[in-house]
Amino acid sequence: MTGKIMFRRNVLWLFIILLLMVSCSNGGGTAGADGKKGKVKVVTTTTMLTDLVEQLAGNEVELNGLMGPGVDPHLYKAGEGDVSKLFNADIIIYNGLHLEGKMVDLFGKMKKQGKNTLAVADTIPASKLIPVDASSNHYDPHIWFGVSNWKMVAGYVARKLMEMDPAHKETYRRNLEKYTGELDELTAYIRNRISGLPESKRVLITAHDAFGYFGKEFGFEVRGLQGISTMSEAGAADVKNLAAFIAQRKIPALFIESSVPHRTIEALQAAVNAKGYRVKIGGELFSDALGNPGTPEGTYIGMYKYNINTIVNALK
Ligand SMILES: [Zn+2]
Repeated sequence: MTGKIMFRRNVLWLFIILLLMVSCSNGGGTAGADGKKGKVKVVTTTTMLTDLVEQLAGNEVELNGLMGPGVDPHLYKAGEGDVSKLFNADIIIYNGLHLEGKMVDLFGKMKKQGKNTLAVADTIPASKLIPVDASSNHYDPHIWFGVSNWKMVAGYVARKLMEMDPAHKETYRRNLEKYTGELDELTAYIRNRISGLPESKRVLITAHDAFGYFGKEFGFEVRGLQGISTMSEAGAADVKNLAAFIAQRKIPALFIESSVPHRTIEALQAAVNAKGYRVKIGGELFSDALGNPGTPEGTYIGMYKYNINTIVNALK
């Protein structure tokens, strides 16, 4: 580690400690001047989690989402503004399973200092998780693409909100019930759309392996060029092997992702074309981030419907 980086780290931690002291002297912001308890301050990392808390809590909490549309959580680093939001939060809700790969140390340090943190992946039983490889206990972090996983996560987050803010317990309970029903409707919608696609065509090729839980839950074969994290670039051998698979199976379309640079899939398309088989780009999918707030794809349910329609329309 160079002296310059050490110095910057020390400055950052000094800043964090100062923030912590300020927030402690304010009583953590839980009691307002009028003596009434203020709103619970929730900080979320991914757009999927921000949407989930919005669905469950509405305006009952003060919500701050760190990542925006098109942001890749594997590569996201907390800026100074984020660190101050995290330290002022009553609870930090994050995905876990190393999805937020560059924030793992920060979450660990906060937990050690007694900060309330919730890694939502903790609620998914190991039997439902997809191992990254047989030899380690690392699991695929893209749990939201299993709608049944997301239902568990919704229950987990709602229970935590009830515990932290019992005054609004009934609201959280009602919202959870409503949202669970909407997730069941989403599952039916996805199954219905897929039923129109012959089984031989249920193969999804994307830039990185974000869709494993979708594949597991809905009977799709999924292949990502970059593996489970975008931190590792695809090598020439990966491109060559996947191109051969696509040409051999005559897969009609590949998909780009909104949070991953398009060049990886374009390189794959070129490699397939070079084999004399023409494959098209089937469209852009939302993988690790939702669309713009205020658009249908800005919610988890809208995002999933958009993805499944794009996939089925391009592959049929
Ligand atoms: Zn990912």
